[in-house]
Amino acid sequence: MPANLKPFMIPLYFALWLWVAWLPEYSAAPPLYWLLLAVLAWLNADFYSGLIHIYLDYRPLDKHKGFERLFHYQGDRSSAEFELMKQQVLAQASWLEEIVYSFKIHHRNVRPYLQFTYSHFFFETFPAAAFLLALAALMLPLTSGLLADSVWFILLLCSVIALHTNHIHACVHGSKQMRRGVKLIRFLQKIGLMYSARRHHEHHKAGLQGFCLISGHTDFLVDRICGWLLQKGWISQAEWRGER
Ligand SMILES: [Zn+2]
Ligand SMILES: [Zn+2]
Repeated sequence: MPANLKPFMIPLYFALWLWVAWLPEYSAAPPLYWLLLAVLAWLNADFYSGLIHIYLDYRPLDKHKGFERLFHYQGDRSSAEFELMKQQVLAQASWLEEIVYSFKIHHRNVRPYLQFTYSHFFFETFPAAAFLLALAALMLPLTSGLLADSVWFILLLCSVIALHTNHIHACVHGSKQMRRGVKLIRFLQKIGLMYSARRHHEHHKAGLQGFCLISGHTDFLVDRICGWLLQKGWISQAEWRGER
């Protein structure tokens, strides 16, 4: 995405989200029904965040593009030499390869991850959030019955929840750039609505559990899927680059 368009994308996304949320006439259903759908959307986003996280953690790095060299760099990572090398590698990398690298390296060295801003994480998850919002918008002509309204509502919520996957994750780590987010996450952890930093640390050590990044409530399913994929040989432990 051109850099000069980026400042407009955050307000544009939220304006479009509100527009899609406001347009339909809501079907007559008790508030409890919509609340249950919101919980369903939350758990659904949590589950898919876990599956995508497995993919990012176990996707091999492209050696030919220099990612291994970048990953195993032994010198000073704040040096001009490393910064130049990083720019050269990322210049020929796709959006997905950059995210895979960012994810893998944060398991080993979380400090740079704590300095990323709201805007940085916004653009990591924006494609998925925009896709879900587009699906919700496409549902608008159909929203006159409870079933279509329910699908539209879940897509709308999943869009904004998925958008904040990495913000939540960075706040669990104690982001230095999103202090209010960290306070909110600490509160949600206290009342059991969010995975603990301790549990997430277990993920960083072994890469066998704790993949879900929204609330962690569907980890029990995703942990089993990860074990099964490893057992089948569809993903390899050799690609796991967690803490040593
Ligand atoms: Zn991970
Ligand atoms: Zn982490």
